[in-house]
Amino acid sequence: MPRYAYVNGAYVQHRDAAIHIEDRGYQFADGVYEVATVAGGRLIDEEPHLDRLERSLTELFIPMPMSRRALRLVMRTLISRNQVRNGMIYLQVTRGVAPRDHKFPAHVTPALVMTTRRIDFAAQEKFKKGVSVITIPDLRWARRDIKTVGLLPNCLGKQQAFEAGAFEAWQVGADGFVTEGTSSNAWIVNASGTLVTRHLSNDILHGVTRRTVLAIAREENIAFQERPFTVAEAMAASEAFVTSATSFVTPVIRIDNTAVGDGRPGPLSQRLLGWYRDYAEGLRAGA
Ligand code: PMP
Repeated sequence: MPRYAYVNGAYVQHRDAAIHIEDRGYQFADGVYEVATVAGGRLIDEEPHLDRLERSLTELFIPMPMSRRALRLVMRTLISRNQVRNGMIYLQVTRGVAPRDHKFPAHVTPALVMTTRRIDFAAQEKFKKGVSVITIPDLRWARRDIKTVGLLPNCLGKQQAFEAGAFEAWQVGADGFVTEGTSSNAWIVNASGTLVTRHLSNDILHGVTRRTVLAIAREENIAFQERPFTVAEAMAASEAFVTSATSFVTPVIRIDNTAVGDGRPGPLSQRLLGWYRDYAEGLRAGA
């Protein structure tokens, strides 16, 4: 079955999909993206993802490439053409194609690309077994709230994690506080069972999964604090986990060489994963 991509108005075969060499996304990382999960053929948290896309674009003075209504239609069309029941959709918007010049081109049309990928979430061991994380210095810029395609420090961090046999790298600011993972938000559970995750600011990406998990915690009367935590606090925590659109709630069982809790996925992390899965499968009302 052919796999399609959406590229600037056309559904093209994925292997033939291409953009111009002077696309500003390619030359300057002058663009933003979103990743949304598809579960059981449904898009999870579609509106918060589109809200964040619009916000990222606004912060970079890039217009929306088309109306939200049209975006929703293209997303659905691509998901159904590629017969994705479980997986993800990737959207990327760049400022567009123009002769290379740092300042914004006067007349340019934003470029829009979408791809999908199938993922068998049910088969993933990470949910059951948990994962390790390493800690690394946060080398990124000061506007991490904008979901730009400028992901070089994130790629370097993820590669370092991979080489260390870990799933993720938690980035740590010069002040010793964890900001977030290279592609996920970071959480701990303290001895009294309170969830702790960093507060929203320009220092981290405002994760859509983070938002949904906090809404679930509120509904389930689980105490939480939105505040920074240090690596030492995380290593002494009862539990830890990461959240992202494709990682859901993934338990963390080791930070650098220190086991978290008893070195197995924690009970609250597992309950949150279960509730999040119910939500993703439409078995739980809107968060
Ligand atoms: N932080 C970073 C740096 C990310 O790249 C991601 C994933 N896009 C997240 C957090 C998690 O965000 P979300 O829950 O919206 O996937």
